[in-house]
Amino acid sequence: MSKKKVLSFSQFIKRFPTEEACAKYLYQIKWPNGFVCPICGCRHCYVLGRYGRYQCTNCRRQTSLTAHTVMHRSHVPLKKWFWAIYLVACDKRGISALTLMDKIEVCYETAWNMLRRIRAAMEMRDDRYVLDGIVEFDDSYFGAKIKGNAERAAGNQGVFVAVSKNDKGYPVYLKMKLTKNIQKPAVTDFVSQSIAPGSIVQTDGFNAYRKPLAKDYIHEREVFDPDGELLKWLHHMIGNAKTFINGTYHGTSTKRLQMYLSEFCYRFNRRHFGGAIFDRLLIAVAR
Ligand SMILES: [Zn+2]
Repeated sequence: MSKKKVLSFSQFIKRFPTEEACAKYLYQIKWPNGFVCPICGCRHCYVLGRYGRYQCTNCRRQTSLTAHTVMHRSHVPLKKWFWAIYLVACDKRGISALTLMDKIEVCYETAWNMLRRIRAAMEMRDDRYVLDGIVEFDDSYFGAKIKGNAERAAGNQGVFVAVSKNDKGYPVYLKMKLTKNIQKPAVTDFVSQSIAPGSIVQTDGFNAYRKPLAKDYIHEREVFDPDGELLKWLHHMIGNAKTFINGTYHGTSTKRLQMYLSEFCYRFNRRHFGGAIFDRLLIAVAR
C-alpha cells in the first residue's frame, strides 16, 4: 500500500478547485479501466455536455459519474462533496455537521445529510470484511456514565465489540455493532457475520458466549481480571470510542450511535493509510 502524505485542507482545496478537476478524478476512481455501461457492460459511450453524463453507444442508456454513489441526485457541487469526504477521512476526531457547515459553506441540513451518506458508505465498506486469526470479543454499554454491571441495568445501549490481532498481539481490525440484548441468538448473529469460522475467539467467562462459540470457533474463555492481559486492546478501544463519541458528538441518541461507531471503526481500521485514506473513502463512496 502506498503511503501518501496527508494534504492540509488548503492544499487539498488547491488540488480540487473546480467541478472539472473533481469529475476527472472521480472518473478515474469509478472507471479505472475506462467507461463501463452499468446496464450492458459496453465500454463505449458518448459524452453528453461538458462532463458528468454519458450515453452507452450500445443500449443507449444514460448514466452519470455520480449514479450509484452517495452523491447521486445531490444538489451539492462535486467539489464540496470532495472537501467533505476529505474532512471526514482525515480529521481523526471526526467532524460534526456544524463544523462541516462552516468549512464547506452549506446549510446545516445539507451538512448533516452529506455526513449521513458518507458514514453509511463507511459502514457498508467495513461490513464486507470478517475478522479472523485471534479475535477478542466482548459487549459494552454506551450511554450514561455508570460503572460495572449497573450500566446494563440503566438501559444503556448494548454494543458488541470484536477486534482481531496480529502474531505480535497488536490490534488489526475492529468491529462494533449495536445489539438489542446480549442473549445467545444475538451473539450467534454477530459472531457468524463478523468472525470467520476457525478463528480463536477470546472472551471473559460470560455464559451467553459459550454456546454460540462452541461449534465453529476455538473459544478461549477466562474470568475477567481488570489488571490482566485478557481483552486489553478491546477495552482500550471501547474507551477511545466513548471519548470520540462524547468529544465530537457530545453524547448521542441510540439512533445515531451505530453511525458514529462505524465511523470510529472505519478510521481505526485505516489508521496506517496516511494520505491514501481520502482515496479509499472516495472509492467507498463512489462504488
Ligand atoms: Zn449499455
